[in-house]
Amino acid sequence: MKKHNGETALVAGGAGFIGSHLCRALLQQGYRVVCLDNLLTSRRSNLLALEAERDFTFVEGDVLDPLPQELCDRAGDITRIYNLACAASPPLYQADPEHTMLTNVVGTDKLLRFAEQTGARFLLTSTSEVYGDPERHPQVEDYRGYVSCTGPRACYDEGKRAAEAMTLDFARVGRADVRVARIFNTYGPNMNPDDGRVVSNLVCQALLRLPLTLYGDGRQTRSFCYVADMVQALMLLMESEAAGPDPINLGNPEELTITELVAAIEAIMPHPLEIIYKPLPVDDPTRRQPDISRARAVLGWHPETALSEGLAKTVAWFQRELGRNVPAKET
Ligand code: UDP
Repeated sequence: MKKHNGETALVAGGAGFIGSHLCRALLQQGYRVVCLDNLLTSRRSNLLALEAERDFTFVEGDVLDPLPQELCDRAGDITRIYNLACAASPPLYQADPEHTMLTNVVGTDKLLRFAEQTGARFLLTSTSEVYGDPERHPQVEDYRGYVSCTGPRACYDEGKRAAEAMTLDFARVGRADVRVARIFNTYGPNMNPDDGRVVSNLVCQALLRLPLTLYGDGRQTRSFCYVADMVQALMLLMESEAAGPDPINLGNPEELTITELVAAIEAIMPHPLEIIYKPLPVDDPTRRQPDISRARAVLGWHPETALSEGLAKTVAWFQRELGRNVPAKET
């Protein structure tokens, strides 16, 4: 990838799981990085190594508040704006649904206006949730989705759909140069152990020798992308001249049931795992799998990390994070 020495990238939501990896990768690409984050569902500890870097600046702030002066002072240098600012796990984005909706709508508007003012290219991280509980499988970008606009996930799903609409509107009238990524389930180091998502929940439970909580019958499917692959895709999309504003699916097309995910975790652990079944959350999508033909064609990208490899790295990271010394399985 081309080096971008001297240019500045703003990463809103940069202290979060994907955002923190993105900040690191941007620094490696030569960008100066300004991370704006309200630390509501993200963690300053994700930035520990980055904060020692001369070209990295952390600014605490919420995208719903006026942009911090520190950020405005650097407006002239900013050439890239990544918008990852929003709680992303179902329990956390549902904890304050009004804030989630406003973050996506008002927050995105504010960052788009900042892109208009600075001339920076803007990338919205949207979500596979725009497809809701999809009736079309796998999901291609022109599928319009099957979303409940009144259910508990609506604050996020409809918030992101509105954010996409607004981003495309800015592009249509030439107010900003934009890219839209629809991110499917992603996992890896720096996930918040308490975010309630399936990989963080199950891996932490396995390490703590607690029963694994399986919602529903475990036959619902997801497709899990390792975070390093996702960050590479986001940067390729941002830098691509060919991509244009139309949304593009980013994720791993390998679909598996949640029961199969449990088996993949069990294969890494040194002890057998116990499962307890819990009710399926309301509106929990039955199947989810990205069609990434567009990402392959436009970006030349596809995920490279096998689930077994990514899970092993994730387990090792959570092991350190939880301060537990769980012996590795003997082979
Ligand atoms: N899930 C589960 N146990 C958990 C957490 C989640 O079985 O402890 C299920 C959840 O019901 C869903 C899937 O795993 O079917 C993925 O859930 P997650 O919250 O990670 O994200 P989603 O893809 O639903 O946004």
